[in-house]
Amino acid sequence: MNRIKVIFSIIAAKLTHFVGKFVGKGTSKPGQIALKILPDVLNYIKLPKTIIAVTGSNGKSSTVNMIYHLLENNGLSIACNNKGSNQLEGVTTTVLTNATLSGKLKHDVLLIECDERYTKFIFKYIKPTYCVVTNLYRDQLTRNGHAEEVFDVIREHIPSSTHLVLNTDDILVSLLSEKTEKASWYGISAPNTQTRVGNVYNDAVLCPSCKSKMTLEGNDYSCDSCGFHRHDPDCAVTSLSLKDKKITIDGQYDISLMTGSLFSFYNTLAAFTVSKLLNFDSEKTASLLSNYELENGRLTRFCVNNREGTLLIAKHENSTAYNQCFQLVTSSEGSCDVMIVVDQISRKYFTGDTSWLWDIDFNLLCDKNVNQLILAGKYVNDLIVRLSFSDFPQEKISHFEDINSAIESMDNEAQEPVFVITCFSDQMKVLNNPCVKKVK
Ligand SMILES: [Zn+2]
Repeated sequence: MNRIKVIFSIIAAKLTHFVGKFVGKGTSKPGQIALKILPDVLNYIKLPKTIIAVTGSNGKSSTVNMIYHLLENNGLSIACNNKGSNQLEGVTTTVLTNATLSGKLKHDVLLIECDERYTKFIFKYIKPTYCVVTNLYRDQLTRNGHAEEVFDVIREHIPSSTHLVLNTDDILVSLLSEKTEKASWYGISAPNTQTRVGNVYNDAVLCPSCKSKMTLEGNDYSCDSCGFHRHDPDCAVTSLSLKDKKITIDGQYDISLMTGSLFSFYNTLAAFTVSKLLNFDSEKTASLLSNYELENGRLTRFCVNNREGTLLIAKHENSTAYNQCFQLVTSSEGSCDVMIVVDQISRKYFTGDTSWLWDIDFNLLCDKNVNQLILAGKYVNDLIVRLSFSDFPQEKISHFEDINSAIESMDNEAQEPVFVITCFSDQMKVLNNPCVKKVK
C-alpha cells in the first residue's frame, strides 16, 4: 500500500513543482503536498551514499553554494535545495523532484541547507554523511529563542553516524562534538586576529558544558573545571588580510575573496574543509574558491545622483550580521555615509520585537570614515533610542520614518559613497525608489 502512496506522492510533488515553475509559486508546496499523502515519504527514497547538510545561524546559503560549486567542478551531480526552502517541505521537494518513480534519487550527492530548528524533522529521515555547523548566534529571537535552545535541538537530533564539520572558534558549535566521535574542526589560527568580533553581550563567559567560568585568551578558550577547550583545527586559516580580502589555508593555499569579512572567510574555510574530507585536490579547491562570486544577492551596487551606493543585507533580529556589515563599512577606504533601514522586521511572520537592536554593537560605527548616519523606517524611533545609548556622535545622525524621504536626503552634491544596511524584507523599498539606479 505504501509503495503506491510513495509513487503517488512523487508524482504529486513533480506535478506541483512543474506547475509552480509557471506560476512562480514557492518551493515548499510540492513537498507539503507529498507529506500530506505520506508523512514519512522520505523513508522510502533511496538516497545517494554521500549526503552533506549545512546548518547554523549565519552563512548556510553561502557555504552550500560554495560546496555545490566544488562538487560540480569535480564532476559530481548534485540534488540541492539551494534555490528553495530549508525546512522539511523544501528538502522533501528537492528529494522527490529529483527522484525516479521507483523512489531513487538520481544524483551522486544530496546537498541540503537545513534551518537549524528544522534539523529536528529533517534528520529524522535524512542521515547526513557530513554535517557542517557554521555558527550559533542570537538570531530571530521571536522564532528561535536563544542560541542555546537551537544548540539543544541540533544536539538531540544529529545522527550519531554523522561526521560533524565544526567551527572550532564558535564555542557552542564546538561542544556538539560531544555527540559523536567523528568530527573535523575548522577555524582561524592567524596570529593577531580577534575572531570574536563586536559583541555587546558575551555569550561565551560561561562554559556551555558545565557553566563554570571560561578562560578566554585571544581566540583560545578553555574550562578549567571540565576540560572543555578549543580543538586544534584540522583545516585552518593561517594568515589573512581583511583589507586585501585574502586568506591562506593550512599555510599553503591562497584564496582571494570577493568580500573581506570574517564571515566570508569562515564560509570559504568550511567549504574547503568539506572538500578535504571528500579527498578533492586542495590546489584545485583553492583555485575554484578564489574570486568565486556568490549569487545570493547580499550585496547590491547602485547609485544615487553621482554617489556610489552599496546595499548590504544584514538580517534583522541577527545582531552578528549587523556587526559584520559595520565591520565591512569601516574597513572601506575613505569616508562614507551609512543608512540603516528597519521597516518590517521579518518577511516570514509578524513581530514588533526590537530587543535585538540592543545586541548590535553600534560603537563599531564610531569610525572617522563614517560622516553621517541616516536612520529610516517604521522602527526609526527604536533606532534613535538605541543609538542614544551608543558612543556614536548624535549630531551626525539624521532620521526619517519614510524611507523615500531618507533616500531623497542622499540625493545631493556630496561625493561620499553610501552604504545602506537592511534586511531582505526591506531591501526593495530602497532599491525601488526612483532616485536609486542599480548598477551591475
Ligand atoms: Zn566546563
